[in-house]
Amino acid sequence: MRNPNIVILGAGYGGIMTAVKLQKSLGANDANVTLVNKHSYHYQTTWLHENAAGTLHHDRTRIQIKDVINTGKIKFVQDTVTEIKPEEKKVTLESGELAYDYLVIGLGFEAATFGISGLKENAFTIGSINSARLIRQHIEYNFAKYNNEAVKKQERLNIVVGGAGFTGIEFVGELANRIPELCKEYDIPPEDVRIINVEAAPTALPGFDPELVEYAMNSLEARGVEFKIGAMIKEVTENKLVFEKDGQREEIETNTVVWAAGVRGHSLVEKAGFEANRGRIPVQGDLRPAGYDDVFIVGDCALIINEETGRPYPPTAQIAIQQAEQTAANLTGLIKGEDHLEPFEPDLKGTVASLGHNDAIGVVFGDKKLFGWSATAMKKIIDNRYLLKLGGLPLLLKKGKLNFFY
Ligand code: FAD
Ligand code: NAD
Repeated sequence: MRNPNIVILGAGYGGIMTAVKLQKSLGANDANVTLVNKHSYHYQTTWLHENAAGTLHHDRTRIQIKDVINTGKIKFVQDTVTEIKPEEKKVTLESGELAYDYLVIGLGFEAATFGISGLKENAFTIGSINSARLIRQHIEYNFAKYNNEAVKKQERLNIVVGGAGFTGIEFVGELANRIPELCKEYDIPPEDVRIINVEAAPTALPGFDPELVEYAMNSLEARGVEFKIGAMIKEVTENKLVFEKDGQREEIETNTVVWAAGVRGHSLVEKAGFEANRGRIPVQGDLRPAGYDDVFIVGDCALIINEETGRPYPPTAQIAIQQAEQTAANLTGLIKGEDHLEPFEPDLKGTVASLGHNDAIGVVFGDKKLFGWSATAMKKIIDNRYLLKLGGLPLLLKKGKLNFFY
């Protein structure tokens, strides 16, 4: 009898952690495991806002897949998935096709653009190393260009961030640290630069602890960030952003709009025919969509409901990693002949968000609030713990954030 083929799509938190766990729990003769990813590297999405602002080089964020995967046990295919065909148990790649017995989908998120006019064409998003690097370079280009034009254009110095969810807030926090450095480098008066965060809800970080939201806004405003709260973005063009606040239409001249106002699951997953909700696939307790016993979905493509609130769990790296661990354990059981799959129970440790390199907010261990240095240190501990889990001490020493005082 041939070995079963396990194919894992995407080497984000969900995909790569499934592979790393399977390489420990399965022997080379138990199954053929293939990991497919469009780049040769895994990246820590949770650091991309730093790469986009230019406060951390993107090489710190990416990790070569071959540095954490034993290619003697797991086959790595660098390719782009173009179609998932669950009825045929196949996936199509740009340069070929793979057949599977078990499929793990971990293709991650895409920006949700809600059909807003001009957004896709004119706004940047923080979603990959490529997109983060582009934002950093675009901002620097505009700063460099500013003093080379006879008529100075304010739109080059207005940076607008759409959405004050965690991504938007973390990004403006990095910008607040980075802009003074850029101003020195490009001979631009800091007071001429504007960082404007536009949020549709009545508060920044809707749903988060109000005391910590206030702390975050005070910290950011003290470093020059302007907030437009209750302001719904309606349109983006090459050189302006339009929003509506209190029934009034307002415009900001800018050629840098970074859209951080929501995510959805990867569109390929919806196109595969699974029932979807805003691009995320409702899965059962064992992380398989109903009716597909050979497909597991991990990370941002999976929709799981919090029984206590009746609402979906937010898509986070924390949950993606835990889902991967559960999926690897369940797959190992299936391969070894067990027919009972353990249900996935999220074990939420809390939420910590950075406000630049030297400030942060968080709620951990249930209701313990953190802010300032202790929250910054906690964020580094969380990130370092992940690196340790993924690639042990060598990876932690190579990529970790080990300086707790900066
Ligand atoms: P991803 O990490 O998005 O990985 C998907 C992988 O699939 C990527 O490697 C990609 O290259 C690959 N891929 C995509 N399409 C294809 C294709 N067609 N073919 C082949 N490969 C493909 N969550 C937290 O818990 N804590 C945080 O502090 C936190 N901070 C964040 C900060 C930012 C700036 C952002 C944007 C998100 C943050 N999140 C955080 C959310 C978290 O990053 C996501 O929930 C997490 O990345 C989801 O993991 P995933 O494995 O589903 O997908
Ligand atoms: P989000 O959906 O959490 O926040 C998007 C924000 O944009 C919301 O506040 C929403 O009201 C606003 N918005 C939507 N449409 C708008 C419009 N037209 N105009 C103005 N504002 C608009 O998205 P996110 O911040 O990208 O986060 C995505 C996921 O990643 C979440 O699950 C989040 O928890 C997670 N994440 C976690 C961390 C962390 O734990 N440190 C950091 C970043 C992201």
